[in-house]
Amino acid sequence: MRRKRHTPIFVRKCDHCGTELQTNEPNSDSYVITAAHQIFCKIHYVGEPPIKDCLEDYIRSKKNVRNEKVFEKEKEQRWLQSERKKQPEEIKKEKEIRLKNLKKLEDYQKELKLKQWQKRRENHL
Ligand SMILES: [Zn+2]
Repeated sequence: MRRKRHTPIFVRKCDHCGTELQTNEPNSDSYVITAAHQIFCKIHYVGEPPIKDCLEDYIRSKKNVRNEKVFEKEKEQRWLQSERKKQPEEIKKEKEIRLKNLKKLEDYQKELKLKQWQKRRENHL
């Protein structure tokens, strides 16, 4: 068996699944290299759907992550906008309602205490 000299063997790992690929194979279609110099396995026979297409998987998984991030950001922005949309009057109103509720609660507690006190007094009499 004759070995070709000066043929560097580049073993690179697939950027998606980590499978080692020999990138010096001539005309190999067992991998694809992207413009960003990322390498992915791709096993594909003509006329059949790809058996393995890590580039496709990689893009899909990346897209999902990006979509989730975008979704989170949109949610945050929507929340901020809804907060910002509130007019000062509306905020004031909310505060008043909260204070009123607090007052009601205090009144109720006072009344309760008064009743208890009265009851105790009645019992003593
Ligand atoms: Zn792979």
